[in-house]
Amino acid sequence: MSATGTSDPLGEIFRRLIGNTGPISLMHYMGEANARYYASRDPLGAAGDFVTAPEISQMFGELIGLWLADMWINAGREEPVHYVEMGPGRGTLARDALRAAKRYGLTPSVHFVEASTALKDVQLASVPQAQWHHDLSTIPPYGPVLVVANEFLDALPVRQLVMTEAGWRERMVVPEGDRFVCIAGSQPMDAAIPEARRAAEVGTIIETCPGAAATIYEIAGRLKDQGGAALFIDYGHDQLRDGSTMQAVRQHLKVDPFSQPGEADLTAHVDFATLAPIAQSRGVRWLGTVPQGRWLRNLGIDARAQTLAQAAPQHGPAIEAAKERLVGEGQMGLLFKVMGLAAPSWPGGAGF
Ligand code: SAH
Repeated sequence: MSATGTSDPLGEIFRRLIGNTGPISLMHYMGEANARYYASRDPLGAAGDFVTAPEISQMFGELIGLWLADMWINAGREEPVHYVEMGPGRGTLARDALRAAKRYGLTPSVHFVEASTALKDVQLASVPQAQWHHDLSTIPPYGPVLVVANEFLDALPVRQLVMTEAGWRERMVVPEGDRFVCIAGSQPMDAAIPEARRAAEVGTIIETCPGAAATIYEIAGRLKDQGGAALFIDYGHDQLRDGSTMQAVRQHLKVDPFSQPGEADLTAHVDFATLAPIAQSRGVRWLGTVPQGRWLRNLGIDARAQTLAQAAPQHGPAIEAAKERLVGEGQMGLLFKVMGLAAPSWPGGAGF
């Protein structure tokens, strides 16, 4: 059931639904909350709820555009070629990347996979030549795909399983006072846990993201069949771990994910350790998963910042500060990771 087509607060819709049919899964809660959240606003930028890397500096999108152009040139400049971005936000990354790629002769057709009509309007202003898609199924089936997803996978709903005295159960959501709380579901879920992780202390939580796994699987299939390369950039971990990582952000502050669903951005850490083998299982090359700071430095962000500062010395300190936000270890440089994938016949990528 989609709860996004009505203007009632989502919390009220959840209360009615749970009252009628029982607890909903945390995955259902997060999926509906984000669908409502993104459908109803442009959350990006200083005046919004959170700031992403492409909104911090043009250098981010430019270096991604150069990376894609380098891959495409080394692979033989095959045409037609498609730029595909998942969840392109305000279209800023695409605009910067396509401008940089054009200098190297790469002018792909542009495809945006976007669920939010509010953001589509903003994207249209940034990249008027783009074509929009609800999902990957309508992306052209011929010609290499150059796929980019920045802070997309973290917005997809996670499923959480919790170890109880009675075994593994799915985490479900019910109202309590004016907010919601998680309880353990009544169905045994032991079969959903890999055998190696099944024995665990009571209270252990395992989080998975079926939507992220499905996205990687599908893109890997396209890379294998059509050629191309992909970059997934997100905050997350590259080692398996336990615990809930779901959080809510509103106006640049962490808030309670269980009050006012649909009014804050819900995200979870991306489990890169699980995603790389899914791509490899389809015969695609995993180029690596590295911290964002290292990747941007390997691609020459320091030199690019210097060039920009020389061209506009009055902006020098702002350019340096923006670079530091992207690469600094206490900022985005370590927590954010870049995962690269390439078609089996494509070259290895710079930066990994
Ligand atoms: N990549 C942009 C925006 C990140 S915010 C940036 O870096 O600035 C997350 C983006 O993913 C938004 O554009 C949001 O509308 C989109 N999105 C979230 N869930 C989605 C889904 N299930 N299908 C398609 N797009 C989705």
